[in-house]
Amino acid sequence: MTIAPPQQLQARSIRMNPADNVAIVVNDGGLAAGAVLESGLVLTQRVPQGHKVALQMIAAGAAVRRYNVTIGYALQDIAAGAWVQERQLQVPAAQELSQLPMASLAVPQPLPLEGYSFEGFLNADGSVGTRNLLAITTTVQCVAGVVAQAVSRIKTELMPLYPFVDDVVGLEHTYGCGVAIDAPEAIIPIRTLRNISLNPNFGGEIMVVSLGCEKLQPSRLLPPGSFPIIKGGSASDPADTVCLQDEHHVGFMSMLDSIVQSARPHLERLNARRRQTLPASALVVGVQCGGSDAFSGVTANPAVGFAADLLVRAGATIMFSENTEVRDAADQLTQRAASPEVAQAIVRELDWYDRYLARGQVDRSANTTPGNKAGGLSNIAEKAMGSIVKSGSFAISHVLAPGERLTAGQKGLVFAASPASDFICGTLQLAAGMNLHVFTTGRGTPYGLAEVPVIKVATRTDLARRWHDLMDLNAGRIADGQASIEELGWELFHLMLAVASGRKKTWAEHWKLHNQLVLFNPAPIT
Ligand code: CA
Repeated sequence: MTIAPPQQLQARSIRMNPADNVAIVVNDGGLAAGAVLESGLVLTQRVPQGHKVALQMIAAGAAVRRYNVTIGYALQDIAAGAWVQERQLQVPAAQELSQLPMASLAVPQPLPLEGYSFEGFLNADGSVGTRNLLAITTTVQCVAGVVAQAVSRIKTELMPLYPFVDDVVGLEHTYGCGVAIDAPEAIIPIRTLRNISLNPNFGGEIMVVSLGCEKLQPSRLLPPGSFPIIKGGSASDPADTVCLQDEHHVGFMSMLDSIVQSARPHLERLNARRRQTLPASALVVGVQCGGSDAFSGVTANPAVGFAADLLVRAGATIMFSENTEVRDAADQLTQRAASPEVAQAIVRELDWYDRYLARGQVDRSANTTPGNKAGGLSNIAEKAMGSIVKSGSFAISHVLAPGERLTAGQKGLVFAASPASDFICGTLQLAAGMNLHVFTTGRGTPYGLAEVPVIKVATRTDLARRWHDLMDLNAGRIADGQASIEELGWELFHLMLAVASGRKKTWAEHWKLHNQLVLFNPAPIT
């Protein structure tokens, strides 16, 4: 059976701002030469879906404007009605970080939004989980195979006894040995792992599997005194640790048995927990995009931005990240900072990242993928404008460096600095303490995490139709003229509350689509 696409009755295009001299084509399959836009403009050549059409003659050297921002300079004359392509544009120079407006914008105070709640798991430290998971922290990749088998045994042997525990997750990674562990920047992967083990979805139950001889010793990963003694641990060994090289382990089965036995008391305590009604302010939402197209900044990301404002108004925490995708809008971030100190912290993170990229002899052109370009995004300047709208409109109240964790009072809009890589960004937002993840995509990705529910938002109806059992929300309805950004934003907000409550599962949860944790390690490997 084939499903016919809806009839394309008329040519549709979207101009983001009245000052723009380009618009993007909305119709599935693009528009042929001769198609007439709503304004009466006739296309002089075929323009693919999501790609830009010149709304007027753009002379060589003139600025090409989208979002009322220069996304490039024309390298040749571009006729009205022509397809504006990547090779016709010169990318604008990067903004100087030393001359940015600092906390200069009078951002309106959020109007409190009250009366919204969800059902979550309240932890002893006041944080709130949206899932009730047993996580097994690992110090080194060497133990990954053993932990995977232990997890499989725990699932078949123990999980039926503990019906109120949602799942058991092995926190596997490639770090822990063969790395320059004393390099200054090793702090990033180490604190990332530490803080992931403290994620609210794991209920404060920490169990660790270590090899024994690795550089990242359990006491270095989770030093005594750095956080309260974990249930099951002692003052000398604050977390409950199984060490595979311990002499009492004779044979592989002994290791497996030891891990499975260690899991029991943790599962016992997790199983005794119940969801309770908590205000929406307990949500900690991480947002990011991946597989972006020209619709990302028109449909899904603005809807996420609207929902971000609702979360800020409800007193919740919302994190946005992806350094390379905000770099070209650095001035928009620093002027929206709640204070000069916050603006300075944004500059600190972007400057550190500039130097990190320079060390690897790459520049901002390293971002934007072939898929981005096929989807109509010419360069990183254009991508950044579409990416940053996910952060909504309120002031940025806090900044986290990669791998850092939010503290109790850090509510509102947070810039959690991270690479834009989907898996690394998700991993760092987990470390920051997110209990819900929102992911927008235009090209499509089956992305999911075992540690936290991931709500995926499609930017186009065509993607939502084809990936009907992978996408949780279709923001393409905005481009189709069937819903407004506000309506989609509210829909996403309600969906977040339902997913956080466990009333609704995301498609990634349904299919158990789990990407690996990928640590950001800017330090050398030995
Ligand atoms: Ca991303």
